[in-house]
Parts: sequence; structure tokens; C-alpha cells
Amino acid sequence: MIFVDTHAHLFWPDFETDREQVLRRAAEAGVGAILNLGTNAETSRICVGLADEHEQCWAAVGFHPHNIEDLAADREQGLSQLRSLMGHPKVVAIGETGLDFYRGRGTEEAQRVSLKAHFELARMSGLPIVLHSRGTGSELREALEEFGAGVKAILHCFVGDEAFGRWAVSQGHFLGLGGIFTFPTSDMADMVRSWDIDHVLLETDSPFLSPVPHRGKRNEPAFILHTARAIARALGISVEELAERTTRNACRVLGIPQADLGPGVASGD
Ligand SMILES: [Zn+2]
Repeated sequence: MIFVDTHAHLFWPDFETDREQVLRRAAEAGVGAILNLGTNAETSRICVGLADEHEQCWAAVGFHPHNIEDLAADREQGLSQLRSLMGHPKVVAIGETGLDFYRGRGTEEAQRVSLKAHFELARMSGLPIVLHSRGTGSELREALEEFGAGVKAILHCFVGDEAFGRWAVSQGHFLGLGGIFTFPTSDMADMVRSWDIDHVLLETDSPFLSPVPHRGKRNEPAFILHTARAIARALGISVEELAERTTRNACRVLGIPQADLGPGVASGD
């Protein structure tokens, strides 16, 4: 059994003192690949560095809507820093970017301009784009329709409605499910049954959004197993089958060779 954690931020200071142990626990839990996503030029560069240092780690580069002012300060320089990182062989996605009208910085228009520029980078590079969305209603779908031609999107931490999920999948996009799925308040079990599982990905969003039973504590990639168990239960399939299918999806959309993932682990269930 082998997992891909398609969304993590292991550059976060929370991991400063024990990153090596966190990576070891991930490997022991069967996490064969971890995608670290940058949130501005500096953290994107650090994600590429982590990918250089650790076989398990892969990288995405982008400006998060919470860091929009870093891009607005010098747009051309910011984008050219991303472009120079995009050529690295372990950079497999553009992001984390998106829209956040709840906690994001800058105007809604500035966020849309940034998002459009990231879609252009994705189109140019042939890489998928990883999208964060909060408080945006139908805006994300509109952006996908307006800018998304020819680009595969990963809708990270998807908690959107069933119809939007089905539409996104019908367009060839992917839905990332994380720790929120395990929360008692989650009403996603019915939703996930209505989607094509070949477009579902697992993620942690480490250090945020720890799944039950670690809710409220620092999240780490090894905890992906709890989310996987909850989703497998909702779908009525084994955790092994869920791992196999979501890992295949992740390798397909990110272009990570399945042979690079390592041996995996026994399920123990
Ligand atoms: Zn994130």
C-alpha cells in the first residue's frame, strides 16, 4: 500500500526541528511521495530545495492568495522567479494559488490577475495548477472556465458542493480530499460517492487541518492514513484499493513515475 500526499507545506517553521523524523514517519506509513507547495517566491525556492535533498519530496511553485502582495510588489520579478524554478525536474505543478475572498490579501481583482498569470504558467509548462479557494462562491468555476482551457486543475481541500465537484471532474480536473473529511461535521461521505474516484486525490495540507484523531495538533504526511480510512469506509472499498487508485491518479496528474515511489507498506487492517 502506497500513498501520495498531494498537498503539504513542510517548509513551515513547525517542522524546523524534526523534519527528518517527519519524513521518516511518512515513509514508514507508506507515503511514497509528498508534494510541497510554495506560497511565494522564497518558499517555492525552499520547496525545490527540499525536493533536491529528499527523494520523497516533489515541488510546486506559486503565489498563494494570502501572499498576493509579494507578487503585486514586483510582478515581473515574481513571475520570472517562478519561471526559473519551473524547469527543475521535480517541479510537477504550479501553485499553491487560487482565490480567497475571506482571508486573502489584496483586492479581488488583484487575486484574479494573479490567478490568470498562474494559469498562463501552467499552460506554458504543461503542468497542472493547484487551487485554493475560500469564500469565493462561483468565482473559482468562472476562473476555470475563463482561463483554464488546456490546463488540469487540482482543487485542493475540496469541500465544495457535489455539483461543482462533478462538473470539475467532467472537465478532467481533480479533487483533493484531506483531514476535513474525518471531522464529525463533515457531510462529504455522500458527495464522494457521486464523483468518479479516478479524479480523487489524497492530501494532508500539513501542518494544517489534522484529521481525527489528531485534530487540533500539527498535521504531518503520515496522518494521511486516517483520511484514507474514512474515505475508503464512505466508498465501501478497502483502504488498499483507495491507496492504489488515488496514488495512480496522483502519479497521472503530476507526472511522477510510479516506480519512484518506493516499496509501500502492508495495510495492517
Ligand atoms: Zn496549502
